[in-house]
Amino acid sequence: MKKILLSTMALVMLLSSCTSTCDKPTNVIYLIGDGMGFGAVTSLLLTADEQTGFEMAPVIGLNETCSANNYVTDSPAGGTALATGTRTCNGFLGVGSDSVQLTSILKKAQKMGKKTGIVVNTTLTEATPGAFYAGVTSRKDSYTIAKQFTESGVDIAIGAGLTAFINRPDSVDMTAVLIDKGYDVYLDWKSVLNSQSEKFVGILQMSDVHRRNKPSTKTASAADGAEVCLAAQLAATDDTNDSIRFAEPDRYLEKACIKTLEQLEKNAPKGFFLMVESAIIDGYGHNNDAEGMVEEMQEFDRTLKALVAYVNQHPNTLLVVTADHETGGTSVSYKSYPVNQPEGMQLSFSTKGHSGTVVPIFAYGAGAENFAGIFQNKEIPGIIEELIK
Ligand SMILES: [Zn+2]
Repeated sequence: MKKILLSTMALVMLLSSCTSTCDKPTNVIYLIGDGMGFGAVTSLLLTADEQTGFEMAPVIGLNETCSANNYVTDSPAGGTALATGTRTCNGFLGVGSDSVQLTSILKKAQKMGKKTGIVVNTTLTEATPGAFYAGVTSRKDSYTIAKQFTESGVDIAIGAGLTAFINRPDSVDMTAVLIDKGYDVYLDWKSVLNSQSEKFVGILQMSDVHRRNKPSTKTASAADGAEVCLAAQLAATDDTNDSIRFAEPDRYLEKACIKTLEQLEKNAPKGFFLMVESAIIDGYGHNNDAEGMVEEMQEFDRTLKALVAYVNQHPNTLLVVTADHETGGTSVSYKSYPVNQPEGMQLSFSTKGHSGTVVPIFAYGAGAENFAGIFQNKEIPGIIEELIK
């Protein structure tokens, strides 16, 4: 309660001190937790030993995540709303319900002269990153999405998913296409970390971008007919046979963000737009895996704290944190605790799919005050656009 009061007071003070001349951001970091609803955030807050990045937020809002044709969105439609400002039909990615290509806030930032980046702990062609550069009526069309990625003009991107770039029905090596366009292309984590390039793509192994050293016994099925996301399959992957090539995969997202920020801010007089997705929260929600969700939220929080630290050092930066939808219908269930012997928090789940409950928005830095309130998902990119115009 004390924290809530303090946050409310900070918000009131911020709003009362803010006028129409509030600082406009030069840089934007858009951090999306796939499937990160209130249950996921709560699972972190109740188990954290120290202040979380969420509790550092001066401004908090709510985000209604519906798609154009359902109260419950899937990731392609959810990502499309967050990226383009248009709600589309479930399954559609970067295109409207009429299948016409939309323009994302990342593309608009490019037109304003900003450098752009994408950092994800899933494939670069997955739904959420794809919504920022692609346009297809099926998220499964990863070969087309990979081709569209090569045409995106994004300065720096780090993620996984090499197959869609090289093992293609059209036999085109999209990594060669990227190199022709002036990119440095790295296929291993060490090269990414050591890079001094301002235009590079890191296409890594899944084991580089996500820890899988705790095999899950859960299955990646969506019992009530919802999509089975790639993230759900990854969260359920038994990694005992795979070599862990990166010693700290649970710090990948944080380190990839820091590396990208270092390179994006070079020679960027008009600033940058960086989109980051923590994708696997969704997977643990699909799998109703409480332990995995808490661990994933701990990783998310490490990344969030690094980004909040960057914003504190670069006050011309806006950081907006939200989710495309909630997954799992996750909540904290009642448990009888013996006196003086508190046991672990117990999560319960109401679905193996997504849910339509609102998700939180946390905002930091220049222009953050514009995210206090209740918004539809499609309103968020428009607010960012107005701020960086
Ligand atoms: Zn999902």
